[in-house]
Amino acid sequence: MRDRNLTLILIRSARKALAAAVAGVALALAAGALIGAPAANAAQPPRNIIILFADGAAPTQWDFGRHSSKVLRGQPFVTTDIVFRQGTLGLLSTHPSNGYVTDSAAAGSAMSTGYKVNNGAVAITPDGKPVPTVMEVARARGKRIGLVTTATVYDATPAAFSLHAKLRWQYQALVDQYLALEPEVLMGGGADYFLPAGAPGGKRKDGKDVIAAFRAKGYQVVRNTAELNAATGAKVLGLFADTDMDFELDRDPARQPTTAEMTAAALKALSQSSPNGFVLLVENENIDTAGHANDAASLMRALWAFDDAVTVALDFQRHSPDTLLIVTGDHESGGFSPTEALRDLSKVSWENRFNPGEEQLRMLARITMSLNRVKEKLGRKPSGEVLDKLLAEHFPGFTLDPDLRELILRQQTREHNFTYLPHNHLGRMVARQTGYYWGTSGHTSQPVVVGAIGPGAELFHGYQDNTEFGKHLHRLILRD
Ligand SMILES: [Zn+2]
Repeated sequence: MRDRNLTLILIRSARKALAAAVAGVALALAAGALIGAPAANAAQPPRNIIILFADGAAPTQWDFGRHSSKVLRGQPFVTTDIVFRQGTLGLLSTHPSNGYVTDSAAAGSAMSTGYKVNNGAVAITPDGKPVPTVMEVARARGKRIGLVTTATVYDATPAAFSLHAKLRWQYQALVDQYLALEPEVLMGGGADYFLPAGAPGGKRKDGKDVIAAFRAKGYQVVRNTAELNAATGAKVLGLFADTDMDFELDRDPARQPTTAEMTAAALKALSQSSPNGFVLLVENENIDTAGHANDAASLMRALWAFDDAVTVALDFQRHSPDTLLIVTGDHESGGFSPTEALRDLSKVSWENRFNPGEEQLRMLARITMSLNRVKEKLGRKPSGEVLDKLLAEHFPGFTLDPDLRELILRQQTREHNFTYLPHNHLGRMVARQTGYYWGTSGHTSQPVVVGAIGPGAELFHGYQDNTEFGKHLHRLILRD
């Protein structure tokens, strides 16, 4: 790392015109010496950067995506089989400045700014200082910028990559900052904090209509899949839900586009009239939400949906090789741990065990409702009758053991680290019959994977801290 720091000092002191060449050669030498990366790759900084971000994904999730895609879809999982396999591969430690287990705001901030922050903070360090985000740096260099998510657009990850807040829950203020920053592409859920409390779905307390304000700034506003696919504007605001967008299992394709459709539309808008290139963040948040809920069936579909978006972005990268494509996540969610298990509790010997195999995957594939949606349907006071009907209809082949049924109806947890009710109990029902177990309803400390293809990819090699990821991005954008 000393070599690399020295290189950076050299870069800063070199004259601007010379900087790119010096940096390219020196970094290529440093990186090449360290990791044997091809020197040619580092000679030019990327013109465009696409960051595909699976919130809540770590190695176990990625491999589940690969395995289930191969067995059930009969197709490769592009993230593992192409990006991780052919690109540069690294791991990131994820801890925030005030603990060991991170939230999305702290991890996103570290990856966007290069600084550690406390859990809950959005690109503001513990001493109260706002630090430049990736999108702010990109904007300052004249690049076009885009943020796409299945969560609300003001959720922790897109916010941490572009804005600032002492606490991630300051939604209205975050939306105001988007209006000031004017990212050329902003897509996801969260129309509620764009509309005044009086309007349908609106929650703003200041009476403002921020959708109208975006329109006044020349944005094309799209509210459903058909409008998105027909969009031709260079600046697009897409709001497809009042709050989070739905899980794949529950999604109405006419109302809400897929992550891949949003990615294609974002690339189409951003690559118009972009002399200085662009930086695009695409997040699938449902991978994290499925982890919290311990919902293996929803996780599987979310991973496939994310991977379809990776396919779209990789195709763009193949046609525009001056693009750096990065696939990563911020932390692991749910302590996901597929494992062998007992068929019943009669004996613990090996002949009473099963391994999660193809039969178990097919059971997951037959589930037709997310655990989030089950909770909505059950309401505040779950009734046994409604529960049985939902299970019979949407979870074919599954049996709810009496202990779990009682916990659901009483709305009680069985452990200190399982707090999503009734999701976690239903997740345990699925686990007992498939082997897809979970260790918590929260986040864990697993390092996250970074896969990168394109100019600058070699910087992400090896075991690093998530702050180094942010520093690399700033470096690559500033060298451009
Ligand atoms: Zn989370």
